Amino acid sequence: CGVFGVLGVADAANFVALGLHALQHRGQEAGGIVCHHPEFGFNSAHRFGYVRDNFTNATLMQTLPGPLAIGHVRYSTAGAKGAVIRDVQPFFGEFSMGGAAIAHNGNITNAIALRRELIERGSIFQSSSDSECIIHLMARSLQKGIPERMEDALRRVEGAFSIVAMTRTKLIGVRDPLGVRPLCLGKIGDGWVLSSETCALDIIGADYVREIEPGEMVVIDEKRGVQSHFPFRRVPSRFCIFEHVYFSRPDSIIGGRSVYETRRQIGVELAREAPVDADLVCPVPDSGTPAAIGYSQESGIPYAMGIIRNQYMGRTFIEPTEQIRNMGVRLKLNVNRALIRGKRVILVDDSVVRGTTSRKIKQMILDAGAAEVHFRIASPPTAWPCFYGVDTPQREKLLAATMNEEEMREHLAVDSLKFISLDGLYRAAGEAEGRNNKCPQYCDACFSGEYPVAPSDMIEKGFQL
Ligand code: 5GP
Ligand code: SF4
Ligand code: MG
Repeated sequence: CGVFGVLGVADAANFVALGLHALQHRGQEAGGIVCHHPEFGFNSAHRFGYVRDNFTNATLMQTLPGPLAIGHVRYSTAGAKGAVIRDVQPFFGEFSMGGAAIAHNGNITNAIALRRELIERGSIFQSSSDSECIIHLMARSLQKGIPERMEDALRRVEGAFSIVAMTRTKLIGVRDPLGVRPLCLGKIGDGWVLSSETCALDIIGADYVREIEPGEMVVIDEKRGVQSHFPFRRVPSRFCIFEHVYFSRPDSIIGGRSVYETRRQIGVELAREAPVDADLVCPVPDSGTPAAIGYSQESGIPYAMGIIRNQYMGRTFIEPTEQIRNMGVRLKLNVNRALIRGKRVILVDDSVVRGTTSRKIKQMILDAGAAEVHFRIASPPTAWPCFYGVDTPQREKLLAATMNEEEMREHLAVDSLKFISLDGLYRAAGEAEGRNNKCPQYCDACFSGEYPVAPSDMIEKGFQL
């Protein structure tokens, strides 16, 4: 998901709509905005579909006045799949000291247990979302202020959260102690911005100030500006390495590092670790593009657009049902036949999850007359599900959970298949010494099976670490 908030500009909701549009790659199912105006109070709109199809409507935007607004784009990882508008964030709660709204990116790993406890004690849930627990925990807190209630609530929450929240006068940003999901701070005129990624600051012309640190809470108001504190026990951070590989936009800066540069460097590492003689290096667009550029630069094999992407399709993986996902490949990608015929092609993609996309792409390339197909993958084999906000399927459905590299190569029926090593990935992400196995610098659980927070709901349901 993507979260965004603005304080201290006229018609903040318009800025939020633009910010969400720049974060659309983080969630395409639905979007929502909550805003506050001193005279008109809180207003909100929650819609399915793209930001550009909803929050560009002048009549709608006129119903969202005021200098303070937050928003969310949704990619369902928890709760009901498909169309339930009540699951669309931001969530709103009315407390004795006034209203508050929250938008959450990440996944709460003890949400089932929390929900059970909250319902037993009288909470009435509106949605099936894990994030709603936070509102109910806030309602039960005895603290006087909303930020303090939020702190109380979040101390009970396990897992990943990057949150943008608001009260009548305050914009609030928080990251979980591990800092799994990104969140950054920007400045626009006298106003302030919180955003999942820096690419959304660029779109509104805001200046990047800094990242919100893992475990940090910032409370921003017009009088006092940004006030920062660290409400949780401090632990070494574990940012999601897959944000660098796939999830974030390549023009974003994360941890002081360009996502594009990390991806290009992954390609360089891959070319060193897994060279092969071939005629062309082709990305599976768009997610494989920077790594393919790096592979080509390092190997000297020409880069070419062997697969053309229809720009009017979204991200296939993020479509919530398997059926749509399956169709999606053909709707979205087509082979550049004239280029491919008779060529030995290196295909670079970001990841192999179920293997369904990869198989279809391989077939399309062969049908177009390629002489050889070599897959190079910009992440290690995805052998474990993510419980922190990326929607990987159950373990059994992950190709790498049941097959080794050679079996996967046979299954995909390609001439060769190589994944970047975990150390190579860490080097590409700027860790010259590779992965620190005693205290890994990133979360890489989907590759290593080492979960930095025990997924307690899932363990209760029988998941085996
Ligand atoms: P597969 O071949 O496993 O069916 O699909 C892999 C493709 O799904 C890759 O091209 C990757 O870009 C795309 N993808 C989209 N969203 C995700 C995601 O959340 N996780 C992973 N690992 N891959 C994703
Ligand atoms: Fe990121 Fe993978 Fe960790 Fe999930 S399990 S947070 S996708 S590194
Ligand atoms: Mg892809």
